[in-house]
Amino acid sequence: MRINLDTLAVVRNLGILAHVDAGKTTVTERILYATGTTHRRGEVHDGTTVTDFDPQERDRGITIFAAAVSCAWDGHRINLIDTPGHVDFADEVERSLRVLDGAVAVFDAVAGVEPQSESVWRQADRYGVPRIAFVNKLDRAGADLDTAVESIRERLHPAPLVLQLPIGTEDAFRGVVDLVHLRALTWTDGGDMVVADIPEDLREEARRRRRLLEEGVAELHPAALEEFCMRSTLDTRTLVDALRDLTRTGDAVVVLCGSAYRNRGIEPLLDAVVAYLPSPLDVPPVRGTLGDTRQERPADPAAPFAALVFKVNATPTGRLTYLRVYSGTIEKGDMVMDAGARRGERVGRILRVQADRHAQLDRAVAGDIVAVVGLKSARAGSTLCAPDAPLVLEPPSVAEPVVSVA
Ligand code: GDP
Repeated sequence: MRINLDTLAVVRNLGILAHVDAGKTTVTERILYATGTTHRRGEVHDGTTVTDFDPQERDRGITIFAAAVSCAWDGHRINLIDTPGHVDFADEVERSLRVLDGAVAVFDAVAGVEPQSESVWRQADRYGVPRIAFVNKLDRAGADLDTAVESIRERLHPAPLVLQLPIGTEDAFRGVVDLVHLRALTWTDGGDMVVADIPEDLREEARRRRRLLEEGVAELHPAALEEFCMRSTLDTRTLVDALRDLTRTGDAVVVLCGSAYRNRGIEPLLDAVVAYLPSPLDVPPVRGTLGDTRQERPADPAAPFAALVFKVNATPTGRLTYLRVYSGTIEKGDMVMDAGARRGERVGRILRVQADRHAQLDRAVAGDIVAVVGLKSARAGSTLCAPDAPLVLEPPSVAEPVVSVA
């Protein structure tokens, strides 16, 4: 069996990180809607949201159990891993962070950076997760993108690069100027995106902000600097390439904005996820140990199988074990080894969870996030591996202790 490595390049393992109430559930819901995964719009307040399908979660109104949901956007597969925003579930947040390749950090446009957004941000720093910032709730009274960006600069990251200029403020917020592709994106009341020329009255300001963006990028990216010095401007292609590099290295964080509740800003956010955040091929190989020896495992379907269990859920379908496959391939019926417990387990069905539906797969390959039915003992944090190539996956190297600001 040959699996094309190119298919891994179109996978994005994505988490949404936020302070409670910033709008993580609503953003997730709108992403599922925009990608056609759900055909109705769930609302947080009527208990119909798709990712929060555990009744206990609905009752408490906070996301307790991380569920991974797959959706498709522009030829890419986005595996959306729900990370709990509540500080009481820090272990679970950390486990989710291990299996992500990139994240969207959601902020409230009125409150800006809040204590919990700061602590989750620091955890993501420790795990080296590249991020995009989404300033949500731009429709609220008192919402201000510039102030929110300043709070990101002061409290989280010295180099926020703003990719959009809002069109209309507060209740009249109706769209954004896309400063990268120099066009206006507005949304109808029905939620459809309309692409148009930049309105006359915003052209001057859009030019000024594009210039600021180009200067910001040139300051941080050598190839962009070279072009900027030669031509006093940056080509859109150069700009996009540099934004991708800077996002992946963590040298800058791109900032987008919108109102998830009003369904404004989700499509450009998905475009940015695809354009700037890494695929499983773009992140360093995972490391593991076997006795005294350390090994690296590349994101290669032909390498020995190794996966991390990040969530186990009891559901009507059975015990669902969510895995991130780091290397190799597993097929239905394979024996795998729970490396810590040194116990063999048989893989029953392999499922790709799509909101509240499950698609059955014959196999899962490196880079993928799936749920497996039939594993009895594996727990969150367990490594599963090929019985003839055992190893225990190591957490990524931890750069600094977590400082809890809350
Ligand atoms: P979470 O706790 O981060 O998951 O936040 P939720 O998605 O549950 O949203 C918290 C509250 O903010 C809910 O009442 C949402 O309806 C509301 N909300 C979410 N997004 C927006 C938005 O863009 N604008 C406004 N005005 N309210 C929003």
